[in-house]
Amino acid sequence: MGTNLKKHLKHPVFKVASQIVSEQGLEAYVVGGFVRDLMLGRPSKDIDIVVVGNGLELAKACAEKLRVKKVSFFDHFGTAHFIYKDLDIEFVGSRKESYNEHSRNPKISTGTLKDDQERRDFTINALAIDLRQENFGELLDPFEGIGDLEKGIIRTPLDPEKTFSDDPLRMMRAIRFATQLNFKIEIDCLNSIANNAQRLNIISKERIMTELNKIILSDQPSRGFKLLMSTKLLHQFFPELVKLYGIEKINGKSHKDNFHHTLEVLDNICEVTDNLWLRWSAILHDIAKPNTKRFDDKVGWTFHGHEELGARMVPKIFKRLRLPLDNKMKYVQKLVRLHLRPIALVKGNVTDSAVRRLLFEAGDDIEDLMKLCNADITSKNEFRVKRYKKNFEEVERKLKTVEEKDRLRNFQPPISGKEVMDTFNLEPCHTVGMIKNKIKEAILEGEIENNRDQAFNFMLELGKELGLIVKLKA
Ligand code: ATP
Ligand code: MG
Repeated sequence: MGTNLKKHLKHPVFKVASQIVSEQGLEAYVVGGFVRDLMLGRPSKDIDIVVVGNGLELAKACAEKLRVKKVSFFDHFGTAHFIYKDLDIEFVGSRKESYNEHSRNPKISTGTLKDDQERRDFTINALAIDLRQENFGELLDPFEGIGDLEKGIIRTPLDPEKTFSDDPLRMMRAIRFATQLNFKIEIDCLNSIANNAQRLNIISKERIMTELNKIILSDQPSRGFKLLMSTKLLHQFFPELVKLYGIEKINGKSHKDNFHHTLEVLDNICEVTDNLWLRWSAILHDIAKPNTKRFDDKVGWTFHGHEELGARMVPKIFKRLRLPLDNKMKYVQKLVRLHLRPIALVKGNVTDSAVRRLLFEAGDDIEDLMKLCNADITSKNEFRVKRYKKNFEEVERKLKTVEEKDRLRNFQPPISGKEVMDTFNLEPCHTVGMIKNKIKEAILEGEIENNRDQAFNFMLELGKELGLIVKLKA
């Protein structure tokens, strides 16, 4: 007698499905991710139900009984889908897949439950629970997936070489699950990934990014990136990150390994944010270091301008990886561009004007920039880290005081271009822009406060210097 999971299937969906299955003499199972997550105690809102034969009839009958109005049918794939309360339920016909060496797409035919389990990517994803009333809740685990769940192992049901060659996306998925669940990839499986890494090229960037972003959103993404690097999957889609790897030594001086440094920064930032794009900015903050690296006899290794060049690389990388090119990209770009600025303040004397300029440029992203910067403080030297962090707090305090006083976060010029023109009777011209800019500079430098009165007087002074005549109000 095998394991029975009846007590975990209290949700009405299962009861209803089970009843219909038996009434209609069907054979159906809950499979895949839902069963895996149930065994792991992870909450899951996606339920996949496999019906031996065709899934459409069962979907229709279940929806009717549950009074669900909207059911989507995908006749071509023999699948159907509906949402019931907070659950996403998908019905599929059991499938047997045979791959042909010359085609990316498998030949699909109707199969048994066992066929369907065999075509699944990993043993932990090939678990099934019987929905027929006489066997309700019985667990079917032909590949010892439960054992692998207990041991924390990612393994393919069939020969890994074939599994990964048939559908190379599974290599990304293996690393994604290993990272999310903190599991180990079984050694043959890992070797097969390394052997087949180049085949990832036939997979679309969108699908690769779906998996990569899941890696990035896990608790400790560095685990995944190290696996992507060692199997060379990373080389297939993200050569810029690969280039960060390694150290170089000249005259006994070496620089830090920027790949591992980047991963440390990424893990650090994951402790303080779930924002995918802030996590991406950690991945990309030093991306231009290899391209800006120089060795100087006196100062050693330098990476001058890597923040600016890095910012300019961001759109290209996002475009190639099919990541969004909207304000999310702009946000990452801005953080990469500014990532050294708070640390420069930490190292030097914190002047009010430097703080004002930073607030002016970072705007509403100042808190995120400070998070990135704080995560970027990594060193083997604990004493140094401590000192940096202390100075960092000082900068944060200063940011707060200056912000309260000058409100520069979303700077709006206190004097508009129209006012400048009206005051001096000017047409739109270079002088107007120049006066506006000088007012802004005076505010940032702290020569005047960020208010209309002081700005107006400052403008009159400027006008005098420039020999402009104030137009008297009629
Ligand atoms: P999650 O929903 O957390 O991403 P999941 O395991 O449910 O994880 P899905 O992409 O929802 O992943 O897929 C559902 C199930 O379909 C998997 O558990 C697996 O059995 C099967 N599956 C998905 N993608 C593949 C694939 N590329 N090759 C083989 N089987 C797959
Ligand atoms: Mg799922």
